[in-house]
Amino acid sequence: MNDNDYREGMDEEELQEKKAAEGEGTEPDKGTNDVGGEKKKDSEYEDVCYICRRPEHIAGKMIRIQSNICVCSDCMQKTFDGMGNAGFSMSDLVNLNIGKMPNISMINLSDLQGHLPNNQKLKKKKPKEKTEAVLDITKIPAPHKIKASLDEYVVGQEQAKKVMSVAVYNHYKRIASDCKDDVEIEKSNMLMIGPTGCGKTYLVKTLARLLDVPLAITDATSLTEAGYIGDDIESVVSKLLAAADNDVERAEHGIIFIDEIDKIAKKRNANQRDVSGESVQQGMLRLLEGAEVEVPVGASSKNAMVPMTMVNTRNILFICGGAFPDLEDIIKERLNKESAIGFKAHLRDEHDENENILHEVTVEDVRKFGMIPEFLGRLPILFTLDALTEDTLVRILQEPKNAILKQYQKLLAMDEVKLVFDEEALYAIAAKAKKKKVGARALRAVIEEFMLDIMYEIPKDSSIGMVTITKDYVEKTGGPVITMRGCLGIEEKGEQRQTAAGI
Ligand code: ADP
Repeated sequence: MNDNDYREGMDEEELQEKKAAEGEGTEPDKGTNDVGGEKKKDSEYEDVCYICRRPEHIAGKMIRIQSNICVCSDCMQKTFDGMGNAGFSMSDLVNLNIGKMPNISMINLSDLQGHLPNNQKLKKKKPKEKTEAVLDITKIPAPHKIKASLDEYVVGQEQAKKVMSVAVYNHYKRIASDCKDDVEIEKSNMLMIGPTGCGKTYLVKTLARLLDVPLAITDATSLTEAGYIGDDIESVVSKLLAAADNDVERAEHGIIFIDEIDKIAKKRNANQRDVSGESVQQGMLRLLEGAEVEVPVGASSKNAMVPMTMVNTRNILFICGGAFPDLEDIIKERLNKESAIGFKAHLRDEHDENENILHEVTVEDVRKFGMIPEFLGRLPILFTLDALTEDTLVRILQEPKNAILKQYQKLLAMDEVKLVFDEEALYAIAAKAKKKKVGARALRAVIEEFMLDIMYEIPKDSSIGMVTITKDYVEKTGGPVITMRGCLGIEEKGEQRQTAAGI
């Protein structure tokens, strides 16, 4: 089939596309708006490699094989390399000797046409709006400024915010100094201990957003020693690279947060190989300290088709967090032992009542819990977060910039209804949330429970001007107070209240 026959077999549209791809004879201004429109539409899409599925902006310029099949140069190169290794030469290909080889046949790409989606293209992502970092890492904001920014979002946890601000300040100063003399500043990797839902992840997320550095969050539970089922330890770095839009330089200044770190503690009485515990700690040592790791670009696992890049973890800040259940018992045991000896001996159960006993934690306690000393040595900053009290929960409801109450108030304000919470109601919500023992995470669940009816009923009646949530309503012993639009002025003077029967 010669070229002309081939073209005759195509329909008009395909021919147009083919011509456009070859860049031959396209006359963009034939006077029709369509051509321009098509072009505009085309520029919103980008080609995707048929083999590795990476889009053009990641994989680079594509080589077009058929009108709608493209292959990136990496995959093309790998294919040729593979053929070279298998003993084929280019001349075999050119002379099409390949077809005569036993058990080898060439794929006719035109056969694939029917099986392929018409469009091997991916809609281009809109370029991200460049967000101005609130805190600029090149100018290294002072710790009090970092803490002040954190205060706007994270309630309480004063000590943790202070320790983190100083650690981050030193970390980025260390990067800026970049070891011009003999004094090399050590990395400020952190280990934070606190009960679930007290804001560990939230603190790190807020910090990364304020500094505008890429952040990768991983669960230590999913990690296993290389070669076993589960994610390789190095996958945390490729997650960071993805968070940095495959920009290696940006990723090298990012933050990696490894949650549930207590789950990789050394298993007690284990006589088998501990592939998801101690071995993961061992495997992480290299990363924590700073090493060159080879990670896949644009994919989470290494395979022959994915290009690799080197990332240096020397300037990546590692923050590990965990709830460390039972750590209190270890601390108590130590304190009781210490206080039971000598003249200053105290009552044995003196520490049993102490709610904030976690503050007394030492590296030795964490080691006893099952973390290996080498691992702890690479996380020099150890601090704890408090369990949230009812007062803090009430503050979390109201104070942060994106507080839950503010969100509901905004939603109802769109219906021109004012939403008010009685002080007692707030404490009732906090008390209910505290009982669930999952920290601040329970707040939304508790509110959601009673706000559903409000969100459903209020838009029905346009004469409602204000809703007041009372303690009775939260505790399901009464209803909210509904104020009609006409009575709003009077209500604000505290003269008239009307209890809703329907809700
Ligand atoms: P964990 O400590 O288990 O990582 P998270 O950080 O995920 O808990 O907290 C869950 C949610 O609770 C967060 O998304 C945040 O909205 C809220 N939260 C927790 N602690 C605080 C806090 N101190 N201030 C403001 N919000 C908080």
